[in-house]
Amino acid sequence: MTDQTAHAPACPRCGYDVRGEVATWTDRCPLDGRCNECGLDFRWQHVLDPRIQAPRWYVEQRKGRPVPVQIVATAWFALVRPWWFWRQVRLEHRVDLRRLGPYAFVLLIGFGYAAIGIAAACSFTALKVMYSGNFYTTYYGYGPSDGWETLISALFVAAAPFLTRSLPQAASGPTGPLGPMGGSAPWDFAATYLPQVGTIAILAAVFAVSSSLTFLALPVTRRRCKVRMVHVVRVATIGLACWLPALLAPVLDPAAHLLKEFGLLLPVRIDGVLRLVPILLPVLLVIWWWSATRSYLRMPHAWAVALSVAAVGILCTLSIAAYAIAPLLR
Ligand SMILES: [Zn+2]
Repeated sequence: MTDQTAHAPACPRCGYDVRGEVATWTDRCPLDGRCNECGLDFRWQHVLDPRIQAPRWYVEQRKGRPVPVQIVATAWFALVRPWWFWRQVRLEHRVDLRRLGPYAFVLLIGFGYAAIGIAAACSFTALKVMYSGNFYTTYYGYGPSDGWETLISALFVAAAPFLTRSLPQAASGPTGPLGPMGGSAPWDFAATYLPQVGTIAILAAVFAVSSSLTFLALPVTRRRCKVRMVHVVRVATIGLACWLPALLAPVLDPAAHLLKEFGLLLPVRIDGVLRLVPILLPVLLVIWWWSATRSYLRMPHAWAVALSVAAVGILCTLSIAAYAIAPLLR
């Protein structure tokens, strides 16, 4: 037993020291155990074995894939298969806050910047193609953009909008995706999308904090199941992935415009898709908290917990949006 006591076995949910229980074993080891403090049923193997590891694609797993791959894989599985996700990532896997911080940063700031860049690139390129028949040719000295040139230009605008040349001034001309355009630099487009994407990122962060606090305030969480704070931080942080559709939505409209300039019409109406996002988001958030409560934290009343947490979290987020952010956007 010396190895195991050095590992200081503890209940994975509440952190209660179970060494006393282990000390009572004399001639044999049981397979299953129950925490005396919070009532969690567990397999002794999962608690005693220090080698137990999270999957290699998961962002907190240090022995896994390269970190950018882990961040994308974690966000993707959390978004599309939350119930499966929480069977792979378990309470017994040690929480690594030094990995969760960069994950949150990349999800909100990295994906946000990517959304702004792609939206700006699509808008700018759509205008270039639109202008290519008339004065664009005389201004730039060459003919309409071909596919590769347009693609490279779009990538360049996305990577460094502030370094890219402005479009020529139009006295009168076609109306662009953002109204009548002329003399617009890619950075102007980026500035158009920044408030949209920035607002979503702030709201996602507000929801993560308010839903965590609500979860911790529920009697079943602290008094009965004694859930350690780090587990709630993990659930809320990884759950930022639920906001990705909203964060990336500003890209849809300019992307559809760009495709239209190339004669490709999407089979769906973009404004219809955009209207789905506010409906989809609360559903995703409830499913996320439900699956985490049930499969990860192994608590009772998972639906009631998830609905309460999501409802209070969304109310707090909407209040912040109404009182703090809306005046700034005016
Ligand atoms: Zn416990």
